[in-house]
Amino acid sequence: MPLTNVQTRDVEALLHPYTALHKLRETGPLVLDHGKGVYVYDTQGKEYIEGMSGLWCAGLGFGDEELIETAKEQLSRLPYYHLFGGKSVEPAIELAEKLKEIAPFEASKVFFTSSGSEANDTQVKLAWYFNNAKGRPEKKKIVSRVKAYHGVTIVSASLTGLPNNHRDFDLPVDRILHTDCPHYYRFGEAGESEADFTARIVGNLKAMIEREGPETIAAFIAEPIMGAGGVIVPPKGYYEQVQALLAEHDILFIDDEVINGFGRTGNWWGCETMNFTPDSISCAKQLTSAYAPLGAVMVSQELYDAFVAESQKIGVFGHGFTYGGHPLSCALGVKSIEIYQKRNILAHVRSLAPQFEERLKRIADHPLVGEVRYSGLVGGVELVADKTTKRPFQPGHGIGALCARHGESNGLIVRAIGDTIALCPPMIITSDELDALFDRLEKTLDDTERSVAE
Ligand code: PLP
Repeated sequence: MPLTNVQTRDVEALLHPYTALHKLRETGPLVLDHGKGVYVYDTQGKEYIEGMSGLWCAGLGFGDEELIETAKEQLSRLPYYHLFGGKSVEPAIELAEKLKEIAPFEASKVFFTSSGSEANDTQVKLAWYFNNAKGRPEKKKIVSRVKAYHGVTIVSASLTGLPNNHRDFDLPVDRILHTDCPHYYRFGEAGESEADFTARIVGNLKAMIEREGPETIAAFIAEPIMGAGGVIVPPKGYYEQVQALLAEHDILFIDDEVINGFGRTGNWWGCETMNFTPDSISCAKQLTSAYAPLGAVMVSQELYDAFVAESQKIGVFGHGFTYGGHPLSCALGVKSIEIYQKRNILAHVRSLAPQFEERLKRIADHPLVGEVRYSGLVGGVELVADKTTKRPFQPGHGIGALCARHGESNGLIVRAIGDTIALCPPMIITSDELDALFDRLEKTLDDTERSVAE
């Protein structure tokens, strides 16, 4: 099909993130024009169910009147100010208060960024700052995991445990280590029970800590349920064992809630669903339901006290972003949290979770599907070449991308993460809309199977 005018303008002007650039000139991008509820519409007027809330972020869907009004009001009152050098704005104060109220640990202070990557970059600096303040400057290494996704800046991309984020960029930087991915289906050994798998990978983490020396390790970072690595739900008991190990060696537990946070798993935070208590949290995405960019880091009193002591020595706390605490984003954050509360979004997610699970389990029987994974309203469908042996498709086959393209033909937007199809619909989705989403997904899988057979 020849490209439309707007598609041609796009390929002439834009460098697209995470896109097969060599193919885009032929296929052209899908240019979205407007949205309402769980639906988005392209420039040709075609309707799609947004099965991914954009990029795991538009939790309240599109065109929410209350959020639109909030944005208009804040823009006319004060479109911009910053928090540097002792300035402040009330939306940032109010949002920090709200975050402290709903935090799953004794959060003392909130630091604002514009994105999840910046939040995780900040986390690393804060862990280093903390240990300098404590007089142990050698305690600086950060342990992340294979298949983790923590962002794209030089340091957050280093924390990310996916090869494409490292290749060609000379990453990871030093002092960033990666331990096992807690994915039993892919990494469990033949004959190994899930409990044995968990014990083995926690044992590997223990061995890494001992080998490196606990006095050199500042923090461990984890997404409770791993998102962009393929929606991976770690085995029961995993985090309890990891938490105990970290506590034993005085290693901070950094919780990356950028996808999990704000009700996605049926609780405010993924760490509540997965049963661990962090020392600090990164969040973004659903913090504003994606109506404006915003990230945040929440820290404990112990961390904050150390920052005060250290900044006293050097004059200032030397970190901050021009748009950290942006009043528009913060006003939208306050309103999003208010909506999550007054519309009972967490209870709604919990009430739809059994239907989400049941429909995913039905899909698990499909010949192309190796494993389905889920929590609350986030899920993953791993496609395999051989269901019995779990044999994946050849690298470069592009089964996930093929499936996502069939999805678009069927009016469904999903995200292909390698061979896994991720689902993360707006949390306001109704039961009927959820059924429609899965009906389209089932047809999409059948179409994909037919294309593979051809
Ligand atoms: N952390 C997690 C868990 C994420 O999923 C993402 C983005 O998908 C990030 C961090 C990076 O966030 P951003 O793209 O806003 O920089």
